[in-house]
Amino acid sequence: MATVKENLLRAAELAQSDSARLDLEVLLGHVLGRSRTWLYTWPEYALSDSEQQQFERLLKRRAAGEPVAHLTGEREFWSLPLLVDSSTLIPRPDTELLVETALALCPQSRQRVLDLGTGSGAIALALASERPAWQLLAADKSPQALALAERNRSRLELGNVQLLQSDWFAGIPAQTFDLIVSNPPYIDAADPHLEQGDVRFEPRSALVAGRQGLADIDTIVAASGDYLAPGGWLLVEHGWQQAAAVRALFAGAGLVGVDSRRDYGGHERLTLG
Ligand code: GLN
Repeated sequence: MATVKENLLRAAELAQSDSARLDLEVLLGHVLGRSRTWLYTWPEYALSDSEQQQFERLLKRRAAGEPVAHLTGEREFWSLPLLVDSSTLIPRPDTELLVETALALCPQSRQRVLDLGTGSGAIALALASERPAWQLLAADKSPQALALAERNRSRLELGNVQLLQSDWFAGIPAQTFDLIVSNPPYIDAADPHLEQGDVRFEPRSALVAGRQGLADIDTIVAASGDYLAPGGWLLVEHGWQQAAAVRALFAGAGLVGVDSRRDYGGHERLTLG
């Protein structure tokens, strides 16, 4: 029988992962129903046969490349425990910049907010958790994504978020919003990054867009004018080399106050106007 400590020494089995030790901790904590801290408090705990078997199965799938978040079914975003599955993008820390920027730009009082391509619901739910007075509409074209977002919405009991099936603005009833946010697909189909790591297990429809990754951003920006209230903001996440092109799309659509913001890695990751 192997102990916690012995199982945590198996990083070599996850050689392709750049976070092997962390992966082991998260997967072992998941199997045991314990926190990562607990593992270090009880290093001598010997796993039962069924716990060990479950851990072996997860380790094998992780070694084959499956994202840790798919194996545990959960990922934390903005301190919210979100359910995840293969129907949407796994929420990323980069996208917390969008949440932070939206919170800083808009007043706390009631705001009408639209999240386009909500996926797991990450952005809308993070905003809703911080701003109970805001009214959020979270849209996605994928019924599977909406089902996941709904599970997250009800689990977090965030009643100020409404969900709607819509392909970008196509299904949004005529109205205006004080804030429109989106983390759309923006990767070019030929980007070699798509063949590496977690993205291989995420839906292409959430990652890849035509015209060097700019096609969906263009669709959103071009139509946003019809849906923005006077003084309202549009915030769009994009790739770190796309900022100048995205600013040009914003300006071309007549948006003003156009600016890009850098993520913690120092890359321009978000444009607003
Ligand atoms: N930032 C993600 C990545 O590079 C992609 C997110 C997206 O396409 N919206 O993996």
